[in-house]
Amino acid sequence: MRTPFIAGNWKMNKNPKETQAFLDAVKGKLPDASKVETVIGAPAIDLTTLVAGAEGTPLKTAAENCYFEDEGAYTGETSPKALKEMGVDYVIIGHSERRGYFHETDEDINKKAKAIFKNNLLPIICCGESLTQREAGQTEDWVASQIEAALAGLTADQVKVAVLAYEPIWAIGTGKTATADQAQEVVAHIRATVEKLYNKDTADAVRILYGGSVKPANVKELMAKPDIDGGLVGGASMDPESFIALANYQD
Ligand code: 13P
Repeated sequence: MRTPFIAGNWKMNKNPKETQAFLDAVKGKLPDASKVETVIGAPAIDLTTLVAGAEGTPLKTAAENCYFEDEGAYTGETSPKALKEMGVDYVIIGHSERRGYFHETDEDINKKAKAIFKNNLLPIICCGESLTQREAGQTEDWVASQIEAALAGLTADQVKVAVLAYEPIWAIGTGKTATADQAQEVVAHIRATVEKLYNKDTADAVRILYGGSVKPANVKELMAKPDIDGGLVGGASMDPESFIALANYQD
């Protein structure tokens, strides 16, 4: 049984004060973690506030990126070791905005995944195709290659507890959601890819999210699909009422 997973990705939004206001507003309104795992991914400068506010509540926390070394002369980067020490649970890696604007490669993402596991954190590994790739019929091969590269060298036990996220680039922040059927089709292909790379047990255990214009109005339909285990939500995760509605989609 895969526990549903609703994660916000605030991107470069909110300061520590706004983070605290969000925490105050969602307090007591999120489901028990055994029912739905809820996570907020926040900018590094907000994580101290986020971790402190999430303590003793079902909410878990994620960084939106990290470096693949634990420490050293890497000006401006965030250490996975320090993230673990401060109590962060997950790190989002391979988001299309990081691949696109910051030129992260599959190899970087694989190194980050290994560094995350080494530090006893868990990765949320993103993949997804552009509109041009979708129109050229390359979606499945492309996301399978991104996943294979990101997971290279990881053990089956690591992949079982990792979280993968399918985020078609053309659906991010555009209001254009992939239909639930389109999302299910690619997510099922990602699960089949994990089965091919590892085995059925691993494929059955790994949670795979859909991301791209998820909101309270479409979350139920997406979550009803057999292979979609959760949502990675940008815009609609920033307003507390909307996040509470997403987290409680089963009610
Ligand atoms: P939106 O929900 O704003 O489309 O963003 C999706 C996303 O990129 C989450 O990581």
